[in-house]
Amino acid sequence: MPDKAPSPAAKTLSAPQKALIKLGLKRDIDLALHLPLRYEDETRIVKLRDAREGDTAQIEATVTACEITQRPRRQLLVTVDDGSDTCVMRFFSFYPSHQKALAVGNRIRARGEVKGGFMGLTMMHPTFKAAGGNLAEALTPVYPTVAGLAQAYLRRAVITGLNHADLSETMPQGIAWPDPRGAWSLRDALRFLHHPTPDVSLAALEDRSHPAWVRLKCEELLAQQLSQLTAKRERDLLRAPGLKMKRGALHDQLLKALPFALTNAQQRVGREIAQDLSRPVPMHRLLQGDVGAGKTVVAALAAMVAIDAGWQCALMAPTEILATQHFAKLVGWLEPLGVKVAWLIGSQKKKERAAMLALIESGEAALVVGTHAVIQEHVKFKNLALAIIDEQHRFGVAQRLALRGKMQAPGMEPHMLMMTATPIPRTLAMSYYADLDVSVIDELPPGRTPIVTRVVSDHRRDEVVERIGAQLQQGRQVYWVCPLIEESEALDLTNATETHADLSEALPGVMVGLLHSRMPVAEKKAVMELFTAGVMGVLVSTTVIEVGVDVPNASLMVIEHAERFGLSQLHQLRGRVGRGAAASACVLLYGTPEGGRLSETARERLRAMVETNDGFEIARRDLEIRGPGEFLGARQSGAPLLRFADLETDSHLLDWARALAPQMLDQHAFLAERHIGRWLGGKSEYLKA
Ligand code: ADP
Ligand code: MG
Repeated sequence: MPDKAPSPAAKTLSAPQKALIKLGLKRDIDLALHLPLRYEDETRIVKLRDAREGDTAQIEATVTACEITQRPRRQLLVTVDDGSDTCVMRFFSFYPSHQKALAVGNRIRARGEVKGGFMGLTMMHPTFKAAGGNLAEALTPVYPTVAGLAQAYLRRAVITGLNHADLSETMPQGIAWPDPRGAWSLRDALRFLHHPTPDVSLAALEDRSHPAWVRLKCEELLAQQLSQLTAKRERDLLRAPGLKMKRGALHDQLLKALPFALTNAQQRVGREIAQDLSRPVPMHRLLQGDVGAGKTVVAALAAMVAIDAGWQCALMAPTEILATQHFAKLVGWLEPLGVKVAWLIGSQKKKERAAMLALIESGEAALVVGTHAVIQEHVKFKNLALAIIDEQHRFGVAQRLALRGKMQAPGMEPHMLMMTATPIPRTLAMSYYADLDVSVIDELPPGRTPIVTRVVSDHRRDEVVERIGAQLQQGRQVYWVCPLIEESEALDLTNATETHADLSEALPGVMVGLLHSRMPVAEKKAVMELFTAGVMGVLVSTTVIEVGVDVPNASLMVIEHAERFGLSQLHQLRGRVGRGAAASACVLLYGTPEGGRLSETARERLRAMVETNDGFEIARRDLEIRGPGEFLGARQSGAPLLRFADLETDSHLLDWARALAPQMLDQHAFLAERHIGRWLGGKSEYLKA
């Protein structure tokens, strides 16, 4: 039977129907592929004697005592006996109806997690009803759900979906499975996973090593690889201007003019990019390099290749500060070579913006640097050929698409270079970024000294301020970053303002600056200029400086309430120092709520920061702590995340899917298309960006 048509007008839907849509469960097949998180065993009655600690058990027993105690807190204590042993049930919240149903002498059927212990077996808040009645024939699935969608409703919906969905095979006949146990049919695997027979090993279901799970994970990974490969192949059919290097032209002139020599890694990625640019197919390359690795100069050199060939280049950065800084740096490098650089930011004066727009449209400005302002509709390029996105993870799909749309030549796409300081662990790169080419700068410029990181309690703030004094004495500069309070930008600001006042008072004779996102641009610019010039000793800021700011003389970074930041963000912030030859340090100040302790994940993050400076290791741990969904951020907005496969434990399945995908596209294009449609529905659009 065909899949259900998309939902009718939203207002005619019931609350649970809306909740289904929220979960992405629109088609029969979506419901069929919505697999249980876990199961409850309601197929049998367990004797208390046989119940194992930690098991969720269903028992039938007679109530032998039922009383309310006040200590250690008010609770209902019910003792039951099933002939094999006794068990105490505790209820912290209860009503008179509980006492009635659990009166001494009643026989009940109860389900709950069994705990052992000094006082014998206990269950906390078990569910219960009168004894007797039918037992379930299969394990009861418990599905991932959202508020307003009851398990019972969801179970019925899934059964309907499972019965109506087209579950015919999309796997080519005779393929070799990565795991011989993968050879279940899709139909059998799904039926089994929704309603497993009670004799199955719950452990194999829960850790997803059961053959039915293996089958589903294979399918899911294959769908992901197929969709990415399709996107890549579609892109390879597009045209872009082939930009050939010209000896002795701007590219070489810039190289010569730089005050430093490129590292080997920079040279290598430069060649990889130049190679791509020379082909008449749009480049789609991700440039990874730890903070401070020197991505900007690589981008500038790529821009020179495009400009040498007679085309324009755009560089888009996520914040005004960063765009401004890139602009200043690029003007410094390029104007002496006669290259006109334009810039566009949101808060620019009308007149200046008009002038810039004219320069861009006439082609007089060969390079355009800016924020999102670059992709505004009224910005017209004369002949854009290369689009560079800095800190690409801060941009969404739509923004990348918009930048690509700035190419005017009919039937052509610009080359894209996306840069990121957040390295992507290998398994993630192979799965979520399989459609991109990746270049890695795996070497820092010489002469950097490693940053020493310390975790310090907020109570010892005074010592930190003393340390700032010592750094300033040596002519160094200091960043002080104030906490991120997600709920309230206003609170962020108060905090930064207070810290600014405190430090100004504690450090007489030192210029202490303040930077936050609500300041007028001119003021921000003035503050950054004073800091860059070395006039300002201390810069207090909210997280606006997070990305890309480059002041090599700064050698101390203090991060207040470091426990509130994510790991990658902490690493990025820390990367603002350690850019010069001086020994640099990062102090992670943490505060704990009155008498409280840091959460386990907060401690893990701070520990990781102390233990390593290596961006790849940080990324790996961040992925471990947060999981791929959050880690991937903007790239994944609206994109299908893997739901079943786990990139760490299933990497052999990923390898299998990667190998099979090209073969399947070549030999079974029709099956491949059906497979993608089944698994991803309309969700593969994002890959176009
Ligand atoms: P990121 O990769 O974090 O964007 P930047 O491009 O801002 O790093 O570079 C960090 C600093 O290192 C800048 O001051 C830059 O001029 C400098 N730099 C880049 N490459 C080299 C090099 N090969 N040798 C010395 N300094 C370099
Ligand atoms: Mg940068």
